[in-house]
Amino acid sequence: MSILVVGSVAYDTVETPFGRAERVLGGSASFFSMAASFFAPVCLVGVVGTDFAEADVAVLRARGVDLEGLERMDGKTFEWHGRYAYDLNSRDTVRTDLNVFELFEPRIPPGYRKARHVFLGNIDPVLQRGVLDQIERPEIVACDTMNFWISGKPEELRKTLSRVDVLLINDAEARQLSGEWNIVKAAAAIRALGPATLVVKKGEHGVLMFSEHGFFAAPAYPLEQVFDPTGAGDSFAGGFLGYLASAGGRDDDVLLRAVVMGSTLASFCVEAFGVDRLKSLTRDEIDERYRLFKRLTHFEAP
Ligand code: AMP
Repeated sequence: MSILVVGSVAYDTVETPFGRAERVLGGSASFFSMAASFFAPVCLVGVVGTDFAEADVAVLRARGVDLEGLERMDGKTFEWHGRYAYDLNSRDTVRTDLNVFELFEPRIPPGYRKARHVFLGNIDPVLQRGVLDQIERPEIVACDTMNFWISGKPEELRKTLSRVDVLLINDAEARQLSGEWNIVKAAAAIRALGPATLVVKKGEHGVLMFSEHGFFAAPAYPLEQVFDPTGAGDSFAGGFLGYLASAGGRDDDVLLRAVVMGSTLASFCVEAFGVDRLKSLTRDEIDERYRLFKRLTHFEAP
């Protein structure tokens, strides 16, 4: 069963202490699709400008991503420029040029409307709801958002969250959204808004998941070389929702494995600039690291 993703398709310029990448393929929908495509067919809805290169279309196509929903508008593709501090945990946005993304109004092709799993990338919560209005009720709606929408459109965001099953945000966003500093209290407040499952991303410190079954923590995979954290969150979402789509259901065990699969995909994403590592990744490599995750976190109580 296919997964529908709606989000940004971008040209990113990224500076890290280890190098710089200029106008490389990025955006939430790109990272998500590349990661999720290892588990189920992915249908992408987004917008690009006339400058969007055929070579980048080919990158997404090579992973089997359905691009019928990728609109091409007159103008330039969305551009984002980020700069990371030495620890790679904090980043500044140097520039955001919305370009054609400013006029984005997601139109869902008829063939996508029965998707059972949906990822609403970080866009205006009004547009996120517009997507849900155009499709049949899916099994799982997962959603991302950011500080800009939490402070800018709080009421619209709340209306959208009332229709969301899984919210994936970082710890600062969880605190901002709930008004609670303590993350356990924050999670309870956010789950009361609608999402039965909340995944709180904590960068190199991994993730915490809160659900009806309780909570679960997964570390980030300890890597010797982290090159570019851009897209880690969206790759996590791709691995997480991809796994749920391929496994079916939302039982406790399935959710826990989905968190580890999300962490696995995120760990590959950060090994190279942009989507480069996801381009060369194989299913065998994913399965091998997923197994190493078990070794990393499993212990027998005496
Ligand atoms: P992440 O590192 O998972 O937070 O996602 C990074 C991606 O988000 C980059 O590839 C950017 O192109 C994209 N991005 C940055 N700002 C925005 C924004 N305001 N709206 C949509 N996408 C954005």
